Order: sequence, then C-alpha cells, then structure tokens
Amino acid sequence: MHTLRFDNRFLRELPGDPSDAPGPREVTGACYSRVTPTPVAAPRLLAYSQEMAAALGFDAGELASDAFAQVFGGNALLPGMQPWAANYGGHQFGVWAGQLGDGRAISLGEAVASNGERWELQLKGAGPTPYSRGADGRAVLRSSIREFLCSEAMHHLGIPSTRALCLLGTGEDVVRDLLYDGHPRAEPGAIVCRTSPSFIRFGSFELPASRGDIDLLRQLADFTIRRDFPHLAGQGETLYGDWFGEVCVRTAHLMADWMRVGFVHGVMNTDNLSILGLTLDYGPYGWIDDYDPDWTPNTTDAHRRRYRYGQQPNVAWWNLSRLAAALAPLFGDIAPLQAGLDRYVAVYTEVDRANTAAKLGLAACRDEDVALMQSLQALLHEAEVDMTLWFRGLADFDPQRPELEPLHEAFYDEAKRQAHEPAFADWLARYAARLADDSLSTTERRARMRAANPRYVLRNYLAQQAIERAEQGDNGGIHELLDVLRHPYEDQPGREAYARKRPDWARHKPGCSMLSCSS
Ligand code: AMP
Ligand code: MG
Repeated sequence: MHTLRFDNRFLRELPGDPSDAPGPREVTGACYSRVTPTPVAAPRLLAYSQEMAAALGFDAGELASDAFAQVFGGNALLPGMQPWAANYGGHQFGVWAGQLGDGRAISLGEAVASNGERWELQLKGAGPTPYSRGADGRAVLRSSIREFLCSEAMHHLGIPSTRALCLLGTGEDVVRDLLYDGHPRAEPGAIVCRTSPSFIRFGSFELPASRGDIDLLRQLADFTIRRDFPHLAGQGETLYGDWFGEVCVRTAHLMADWMRVGFVHGVMNTDNLSILGLTLDYGPYGWIDDYDPDWTPNTTDAHRRRYRYGQQPNVAWWNLSRLAAALAPLFGDIAPLQAGLDRYVAVYTEVDRANTAAKLGLAACRDEDVALMQSLQALLHEAEVDMTLWFRGLADFDPQRPELEPLHEAFYDEAKRQAHEPAFADWLARYAARLADDSLSTTERRARMRAANPRYVLRNYLAQQAIERAEQGDNGGIHELLDVLRHPYEDQPGREAYARKRPDWARHKPGCSMLSCSS
C-alpha cells in the first residue's frame, strides 16, 4: 500500500497513560491510553467513500486489496500508526457520568494528506480499551452501516461532520439485545473507519476539570487551539475567550443546519459534541418524516424526550454551558464565557432567520416571515406533513395559482389533509402575497429553495432497507444509497424511489421509527 504520512500530535504533545495493562480502569492525568486493536477473523471491505479514499490517496487496487482489509479491520498496522484510545468524560442525559472515553473506538494515527489536510483515522468497533467499562468494544453491522452512510450524507449536504473512509465486515458475530427485552441475538459485526481533523469533545475538557486537574485542562486547551484553531492569534485569557466564542459560533451553525434538514442526533450528551462543531457519534439518530418537533428516534429517551428535534438548539446551549463551566478555571474573569454563550444565541437566531428566508425562497427574512414560518410549522405538525417533501415541493409553487394540490403527496393522512385544507389555503395565500412583495425572480427563488431544501435525506426506513439487504449478504443497497446521497440537492431522474415519504409499513417498525442505543 502507498505510504501515508502520519504525524501523531495528539500522542506526542499530550500526556498519556503510563500503564498499558488491559482491562477497564480509571485513567487520571492523561488524555489517552495506548491500545492495540483486537484482530478479527475475516475482515472484508463492504463499502468505502470515494471522496475520502481520494483525499487519502487510496486507489481502487489498494482499496480492493487484502492488505487494506487487514489494516482497517484492525489486524495490521501501517508504518507510522500508533493506536490509542482517548480519555474523556461527559454529561449523559443531563447527569455527570464521570470518565467515559473511547470504549470501542481506537485511533490509528493522524494522517497528513498530500494537500496538508490532517485526518485522524479511527476504527469504531475494533475491540476493548481501558474505557470499555466491561462492554465488548465491538459494533454491529446495522449501526455501522448507519454511521458510515450518515457521516458521508451529512458531508454532502454541506453540514460539518466527521467522515467515514470505509465499512468492513469482521467475519465475527456480536451479541446484542436490540430491543432491550431480554432477547439477545448474534448479529454480524462490523468496523467503520471514521475520519476527522479532531475527535476532541466537550467531555474531553470536562473530565480533567471535574478532577481539579487544571494543569491537564490547560494543556488540552492549548493543544486544541494550537492544532485545530491555528488561525486564532492572541494570548492568555483573550485567546481562550476567542476560542470558546468560536466553538459557540460553530455549534450555532451546526444546530441551524440540523434544524434546516430535519436531522435529530438522538444522544446529545456532552461527550458527543465535537469541539470543532462537527456532527459526531451517529447512534440512534433519525430524520424527520412527518414534521414533529417533539419527535425523538431514541427509545432510551422516549419518555423524557430530552433530545427531541425541537429541543436541539436549547440542548446545545446547555452543553456549551457545561463546557464553559469546565473551562472557567482558565479564566480570572468569566465574562468572555458568558459572552460566548450569548453569542451562541445571537448567531443561532441569525442563521435560523437566514434559513427561514432560504427555505421559503425569500431574499431576506423580515420579522413577519418568522411568524409565517412558525404558522407553517404548526400546520405541518397538526396535519402530519412530510417535512422534506413539503419544502422541496414548495419550490414549484405558483403564486398565480396558490393551490395545495401539487403538494398532496407530502401528506401522510388523507383525513387530516382534508380537515386542514382551509388552513393551508389561507397560508398559501399569505405566502403568495409575500412572494409578490419580494425582490427575487421566480428562477432565483426556486434555485435558492432547492439549495436549502434537500430532495434526498437518509430516511430511517431507507437505511433500514439497506441494512436488511446487507444482513442477507447484499451490499447493493448501501452502495446505491451512498451514491444517491452524494447529490442531495439535485433531482436525480430514475431515483424517485429514494425521495418517497415513509411507507406505512415503516411507521412503527424498529429501525424505521424508533432506534435503541444497542449498537
Ligand atoms: P455512545 O452513547 O455511543 O456515545 O457511547 C457512550 C460511551 O459508551 C462511550 O464511552 C463509548 O465508547 C462506550 N461504549 C458504547 N458501546 C460500547 C461497546 N460496545 N463497547 C465498549 N464501550 C462502548
Ligand atoms: Mg459517544
């Protein structure tokens, strides 16, 4: 295989765990532990991202080789790889959980691509680490397919995300209790090679802060700024304040992006929020079918719904406030932390308004447009309307003929549609009047809407269909979906089936409507 250049700064510039003993343990005074992936019986490449492979310089021959499967299945290392598991903590469902760490993710190294981009390569499901807390360190095929596909789909939507190079079958079974109902079964095991400039999380800072290890906290903050925010100049508290402000701004953009496309992360614990503002840790996530701000895909959260769709911007603020509390010891005066949190609110509000204008095809968002959007959202919710189909279809709206008919396919329930027809007629009339008072031409309006409202998203049932085919040994569904999702804003003739609303059979089916954390 060609030589990848590795420059493992996380290892080199931060303190590591002096012990390399196997088995779960508390690790103090260290940002990582050196580990070795546990070999698997028969690693086999199931899918790869052509864009990520190109970024790292892998050609078709290398990707198909046994050597590639051995390395990315965790059975062999390339020169320069120095595997480790990162140490971090986190607030889970609002409660401080102490040390968590990479329990089944093992980083292989920081590859430096020919264009200078830095990509940490990380195997998810490569075996236990000191942070596995008694679990097996493995991942099942279904959750690995979901992480692989969604990482790349998110990237192609233009939304910041960790990426995925490849998906491998391990040739070994993993036992999971999918519905947590006392019926564990053996499922095929898999490994995803995730890639990111950094996998550092809010929880990475919370852990040393919780232990009063201010020295380690400062080392990690300085390292993060040096490696991942090199454009920030300044010194001392001013620098820390600028950095926290930028984390807040990036997180605000990310939340506005998720809300725009109907993505629900499902487990927004502080250990799952990236310091770079990337979508991180694809578990029981989901995509909105019928517009419902109260929906969560995560069965573990079904009761309290802390991480429901409409709550995400607030939860991100709360998570940033946890990060601020962790960073507070680096500040004599915490005013810059408060300013960062306030900035989050201001930037989120501003980007959300810009998205309202883009989704409705308006030149700019006026105050009354916020109300126009809110009344539409209330209607979409009450009448059970598909979010993606509605907004995409609305681009074809003709203000001269403000009719609901062309949007009928977005409705899930015929009776609800009929009941809400007068309300929709009113709304479309308001919308038509607003368009008549806007400066954009019809062509400009439609282009703007199509760039903000995707045609194709990774609907839960589509992922589930690809998973079921793959569990039968047919990876075609993964490849087809990956290809469709490479151009989510384009109409792709012949691929209409991937843009359809959730079929009735998928309404309550596990994997299609609700997902468990079991993965
Ligand atoms: P998650 O909810 O996937 O973000 O995981 C929370 C924590 O549990 C992280 O520290 C994971 O590394 C760990 N974890 C999840 N599943 C496993 C597993 N099968 N084996 C070991 N650790 C795991
Ligand atoms: Mg996690």
